[in-house]
Formats: sequence, C-alpha cells, structure tokens
Amino acid sequence: MAHKIAVLPGDGIGPEITEQAVRVLSALGLDLEFETAPVGGAAVDALGHPLPPSTLDLAKAADAILFGAVGHWKYDGLARELRPEQAILGLRKALGLFANLRPAILYPELANASSLRPEVVSGLDILIVRELTGDIYFGQPRGVRKAPPGPFEGELQGFDTMHYAESEVRRIAQVGFRAAGKRRHRLCSVDKSNVLETSQFWRDIVIDVAREFPDVELTHMYVDNAAMQLVRAPKEFDVIVTGNLFGDILSDEAAMLTGSIGMLPSASLNASNQGLYEPSHGSAPDIAGKNVANPLATILSAAMLLRYSLDAGALADRVEQAVRAVLRQGLRTDDIFEPGMTRVSTSRMGDAVLEALK
Ligand code: NAD
Repeated sequence: MAHKIAVLPGDGIGPEITEQAVRVLSALGLDLEFETAPVGGAAVDALGHPLPPSTLDLAKAADAILFGAVGHWKYDGLARELRPEQAILGLRKALGLFANLRPAILYPELANASSLRPEVVSGLDILIVRELTGDIYFGQPRGVRKAPPGPFEGELQGFDTMHYAESEVRRIAQVGFRAAGKRRHRLCSVDKSNVLETSQFWRDIVIDVAREFPDVELTHMYVDNAAMQLVRAPKEFDVIVTGNLFGDILSDEAAMLTGSIGMLPSASLNASNQGLYEPSHGSAPDIAGKNVANPLATILSAAMLLRYSLDAGALADRVEQAVRAVLRQGLRTDDIFEPGMTRVSTSRMGDAVLEALK
C-alpha cells in the first residue's frame, strides 16, 4: 500500500525547499502518495486560518508530514491565534507529537562553519531527543498571585509548575533508547536531579525503562554540566534524552555547534511513529523566491521521515550519503559558501543530490 505523505510547504522559502525534498523522496522507488495543502500565512491568505480543517485532516490521515516553514512579518499584526506559527503548535497538539528529535551533525566538509575549533567539532553527530508536550511549559497552575506566607508574603509573585507523569517519562525514554539502538548505542539522560523532585523522578523512571534496552548504555548528566560538555567535547555524546525545558535550550546550543542553520533537520513523533519533519530554520522571508535557500536541511528531514515513519533506514542512509557527496564535490548554497567552492542555487543543489543518489 502506498505511504501517504502530507506536504505542507508554508511560507517564505518553504515551497522552494520542500519541492527539492519531494523530488528526492520521489526518486527512491518507493510507493509514495503526496498531497499538498496550505499552512501558516499561506493558509491564512487562502482559507482564513493558519491550520484550516482541510489541512489538519490531511495531516491526520498521513503517515508522515513534510513541513517547510511558516511565518512572515506581514502577519505580525494578526491576533495571536491567527499567527502562522500557531499552525505548528496546533499540529503538535492534534497529532500528539511528544518527541522532538534534533540531530546536530557537522560534516567534516563544513567544519570551518562552527565557532568551535574544527578538531573539536569535525565529524560531530549527536541526536537530541526532547520531550515536547509536558514539563513546566504546560504545567498547571501557573500565573501571578499574592505570595503565600514566607519571606515575600503579600508581594505579587509569578509562578509556574514543573511536573512529569510516569507515562510521559516512559514514552520519551523509550524513544531515546530506540534511537540510540539504531545509532552508537549510548544514551545520556539529562536532568537536574540534585535540585528538582521532578528530575529525580525522571531519572528513576529512565533507569527502570533501561531494563527493556540491555544493548544501550545509559548515563546521566546534570543539565548545567551537559551545557558545558556540549561545547567542551560534544563528540562524547551519541543520543541525549531530556525534558521540554532543558531540551529547548540544549538543542539550540547543539544546533549552533554546527554553525550552519540551513543544514539541520528535525522530526516530531507521536506514539505510532507518525511524524512531522521540518528543517530547524524558519521561513527566511529575506531570501524567499530567489532560488538561493539551502534545501539540504529539508532533504535531511526527508531522510529522517524515511528512517522514523517509513522504517526505511537504508534509504535514509542513501539520502544522507548523497548529501555528503554533494558537499564533497564542493557545491554550496550562499549560506555555507566559502571561497574556492562552487556556488549553486536551491534547485541546482536538488539536482546534485538526485544525481548523487544514482
Ligand atoms: P529564519 O531561520 O527564517 O532565518 C534566520 C536567517 O537564516 C536569515 O538570514 C535567513 O535568510 C537564514 N536562513 C534560514 N534558513 C535558511 C536556508 N535554508 N538557507 C539559507 N539561509 C537560511 O529565522 P527568522 O528570520 O528569525 O524568522 C523568519 C520567520 O520564520 C519568522 O516569521 C519566524 O516566526 C519564522 N520561524 C518559523 C519556524 C518554523 O516554521 N518552524 C522556525 C523559526 C522561525
């Protein structure tokens, strides 16, 4: 049976970069059915809402969603619920996408793009698995209140609530262990269990889940130390699993290690491995429509789609190797251009990946 792929190009450079990823997916000999729908600002213009019911229905019925990017300053004046970015939150919620996977890979060919010394980062290949739907970002109660008895009694006080239920920790830990099992078999769980009750509970549950995965080596690290180790010796990590708050910060830190935002894919998965795949960057309105955007983050997101939603790991490897091959050939879009390399357009980069796949 054909796999259904919902293509949601979105705004800015979204259409240009998703087009290249669809070309790559179509060239692999798989039985894929693509259907495209508007999302973000494009959907506000066409149908009056950033995530119209027809787009949401298409996404729900698909095996996987290939997402470009949303957002443009021309929508800045809209009410919050009509802003293009609300489409991503709506999709996460409707599909229960609780696991965010963000690889940070630095191809040796691009080692000069990092702000760290090439020998520290060249060949970097880590995966951050961030819990996406719980933690202090969603915990209730929250707000501003009169402080209870204590040193600040009577003053106004802002507060949030951090909590994780056992099932939430179990399922994200399992995603982390499974991902590590497909890679170098090492999982580092990041928490703050020396201070936070929620983190101690997190750690206890992760240790329990580890018994299901005897082939993966589990370690633990406090988040402050993890932030340091990521810049000191990032290649020591294989897979990191962590909560929403810590993962938000660490995944951006890890992304910056690579120095090239146009290269970073991401995936958000639910319990049935249905996933939304998108580049980590935004819609880059400053370069939209000029055929200069780097399509590789989106093509690498398509590789993640193959690996995690279609269970086609060998094809994912092929796509990733094709991307490496074009970098070795010296082809570069503007954002990763260095003197001595060949500057290419978005569509030419897509052509080159297709040729390398042959
Ligand atoms: P951005 O990531 O769109 O752009 C930052 C800079 O990186 C720009 O100079 C841009 O030209 C460049 N850039 C980004 N992707 C590139 C690529 N593939 N190739 C070459 N250069 C690239 O971030 P921003 O400018 O802060 O945000 C622009 C819009 O995108 C905003 O509306 C924002 O809300 C939205 N946004 C959307 C997502 C998403 O859809 N997931 C994520 C982040 C930002």
